Amino acid sequence: MQSKKNVNPLFRLKKNINCVFSQPSSSNRMARSSHRSVKPFKIKGNNFNVEYGLHLKVQPTTWFNSKIVLLITLLTTLPLLWWLNNSSASISSVFDSSLLHKTPITGVIISNVPTSSTTNPGISLPDITTPLPSHLRVSVHAKVETSFAIAVKKMGLSAHQLSKLSQIFKGTIDLANDIKSGDQLTVIYEQHKFKEGVEERLILAAEVATQDQVYRALRYTDLTGYTDYYTPTGNSLHKISLFRAPLEDFTRISSPFGKRRHPISRRTHFHTGTDYAAKWGTPVFAGGDATVQFVGRKGGYGKVVILEHSHRVTTLYAHLAKFFTDISVGDEVIKGQIIAYVGQSGRATGSHLHYEIRMDGEPQNPEEIKLPLTTSIAKEDRAYFMIKTRQLVAQLNDLNQTATLTRVVEKIHVSPKIVKSTSSVSVLKQHLIQ
Ligand SMILES: [Zn+2]
Repeated sequence: MQSKKNVNPLFRLKKNINCVFSQPSSSNRMARSSHRSVKPFKIKGNNFNVEYGLHLKVQPTTWFNSKIVLLITLLTTLPLLWWLNNSSASISSVFDSSLLHKTPITGVIISNVPTSSTTNPGISLPDITTPLPSHLRVSVHAKVETSFAIAVKKMGLSAHQLSKLSQIFKGTIDLANDIKSGDQLTVIYEQHKFKEGVEERLILAAEVATQDQVYRALRYTDLTGYTDYYTPTGNSLHKISLFRAPLEDFTRISSPFGKRRHPISRRTHFHTGTDYAAKWGTPVFAGGDATVQFVGRKGGYGKVVILEHSHRVTTLYAHLAKFFTDISVGDEVIKGQIIAYVGQSGRATGSHLHYEIRMDGEPQNPEEIKLPLTTSIAKEDRAYFMIKTRQLVAQLNDLNQTATLTRVVEKIHVSPKIVKSTSSVSVLKQHLIQ
């Protein structure tokens, strides 16, 4: 032990110094290569370390300093967390999470594209397929001359946009089959191009004008953050087709929707669905196209399946004998598909199906509800909806002034963190008239 004192003179500085000695391990190269018996040791002071007597390291922060750093961190982050928790703001409302990983690049001004208006059509026209600057609002209008597919191609719409349009108008008009020569199509969309090569085209508004009728769809995000397409008056374009009775061969309605005396408890309560008496094992169908939200037991309901038809509409099937083998949460089901079989599970006096239709969580009467269902903007939110969509309606009206192919391109400013469909500032306009 005498050699340790000889190797490191700092050993004498005992005041405020901790000495930690350890034995050399067989794998310690320094110990093996040395002829002298140098044993590893460590000396720790308030602001330095001596290891193996070879390195002198000044410790970056002392215990005291690290506490201050922690305190400052807490003092600065806690008020922010408190604000996020108490205010109506949320991380998702401040940042569009889908865009956080993408880096928008600044739009390139097309220098050779003349700024003009529809009143000055005598300009030379660039090719409609010219690549566009990064962040644009594109409004395009065309009259169908030969076929719908050709009109769409002329308008420069992608196959993905076409399928999105068909989806938006699904249940209202069949774009592939119902559009004829002379009909008109108008689409307003936002196009974002990102460094990673990702391109996003967001349809903000669309109009299909046939000989008989004009159909309009406006993209709208409500105050809860839900986005859907609506008519200019705030009605949903999605029609939800549902069965009033999602089973064949039921014998009778054993208990209707509404107030009733419970057959077991004898207490008066509100019956939130309709009971269809049917033989044990009768197949139960999906009431409409949906996503499976729940499969399992729910107290007095017994075995239950819940289907989600839209974010606002669900159907519930209770007292089931068993579930269809392949049904599990998250599955997509189509109207009429077998999801389960009639039984008597839970609190039930005989084999029957308890069927509920809920809208915004409120039970509706399956026998009387107006079908197909449309989910519209609530009356109290309509004024806000009108304000938010006013600009799109005005743009659709403007585009309809021309009977030929028109394309308006507006460059928009997009912050990397906040992308809102309405936050556009027009700095460049390109009109094409054919
Ligand atoms: Zn019931």
